[in-house]
Amino acid sequence: MSTLDRHDTAAPIFDPAAHRLADDEATLIEKARRFGGRVLAPRAAQYDRDATFPIENFRDMHREGWLAICVPKQDGGSGASYRTYCLAAAELGRYCGATALSWNMHVSSTLWTGALADDLDMNTEERAEHQRRRALHYRRIVRDGAIYSQPFSEGGAAAAGVVAFGTEAKPVDGGFLVSGKKIFASLSGAADYYGVLCTMRHEGEAASRRNTLYVAVPAKAPGVSIVGDWDPLGMRGTVSRTLLLKDVFVPEDEMLMPRGVYFRAATSWPHMFLTLSPTYMGLAQAAYDFTVSYLRGELPGTPPVKRRMYPTKQIAVAEMRIMLEQTKALWFQAVSEARANPSKEQVLRAYAAQHTVMENCNALATKAIRTCGGQAMLKNLALERIYRDSRCGSLMLPWTAEICVDRLGRETLYESGEKDD
Ligand SMILES: Cc1cc2nc3c(=O)[nH]c(=O)nc-3n(C[C@H](O)[C@H](O)[C@H](O)COP(=O)(O)OP(=O)(O)OC[C@H]3O[C@@H](n4cnc5c(N)ncnc54)[C@H](O)[C@@H]3O)c2cc1C
Repeated sequence: MSTLDRHDTAAPIFDPAAHRLADDEATLIEKARRFGGRVLAPRAAQYDRDATFPIENFRDMHREGWLAICVPKQDGGSGASYRTYCLAAAELGRYCGATALSWNMHVSSTLWTGALADDLDMNTEERAEHQRRRALHYRRIVRDGAIYSQPFSEGGAAAAGVVAFGTEAKPVDGGFLVSGKKIFASLSGAADYYGVLCTMRHEGEAASRRNTLYVAVPAKAPGVSIVGDWDPLGMRGTVSRTLLLKDVFVPEDEMLMPRGVYFRAATSWPHMFLTLSPTYMGLAQAAYDFTVSYLRGELPGTPPVKRRMYPTKQIAVAEMRIMLEQTKALWFQAVSEARANPSKEQVLRAYAAQHTVMENCNALATKAIRTCGGQAMLKNLALERIYRDSRCGSLMLPWTAEICVDRLGRETLYESGEKDD
């Protein structure tokens, strides 16, 4: 049988030779793919059903080095680049969306403070301070399996990058008193540290985005509480409840970036916000793979009934393939060219890639259900979970599908500072 005669649902999403991946990059991504199939896939349905955090997955991720994928090699991690991380995360997303998305929140705290921060302008003092402090966070992750999360959203315009965060950090002796409220705090109750964005403000000072502070709030610190229930449509395993902070003392060494550096990162390394997309790239592939296997009568757990002989099914699969290839090509280009100070073209392409992945992921899952039919959406199969999880992608701030469209249109038609008089 030639390789063209069967559909391999476990083939890499991005074939290493076709995409000219470096050997060490391909090896790590291959390991992620195997980990996803072996560890994440068998547990995914239960976390989804119970809306509980996949803590066993995170313990296994610690044992197998995945919590430290973007921790620099000299600090005991794998030192993965931005792109390598994205490609590995897509492989995990295809097996369990909620684990991959939660893992992204954790990994981003190491990627942003690691490879990404290395690209930012810092003076010698800032650089030394940053390296000393991040080593502390990395040690906790590598040695103890500490889990970091990323609760930024507040329910207003701050997470969209429009106004300063309402959560505030008041400087006090040896650190800060942090107070505020974060909604959709994925990993709530499971994280050891909440990587919070807040506005540093002295008494009487006006709030400014330039004074955004990125700090790790210890989960056990007095004044930290988690409230509200969690029973959402999709991404149920992320357990994204509400985090309340009331005069929480956060020591200076818990700063994840020196003062003012987060603002520099957000403005000069915009692809940092594209890191929510790999999970959904994986889900898009999963919806397609499911459809092909199902129509061929090869999906494990279902009777060997073939449905591929109907022309309408063949057309639907062709259309899905075209959409998947378009999505993969644009996304691969965007994650490959991510860097500090990208050109305007590259930023616009990143918005387009985010929009395409998030919207097409859901469109592919929708089409998969219509094409496969009623029996395919029963809860004992993965497709209906993929469908529900896929619906969440375009809601993720700061680059929701709507905001991407908004910026693409405006920034294409107007140069910076241009107005109509
Ligand atoms: C499963 C899941 C997990 C999540 N995990 C996290 C997490 O770990 N950390 C975290 O910080 N957040 C997380 N979020 C929150 C997410 O990033 C958004 O903040 C949240 O979905 C916003 O909900 P909202 O009702 O406040 O939307 P709103 O802020 O009311 O926005 C509604 C819509 O209006 C549009 N909109 C909003 N602001 C603007 C603007 N300035 N310009 C144009 N259009 C705009 C957007 O398209 C948006 O989708 C998660 C969300 C989900 C669904």
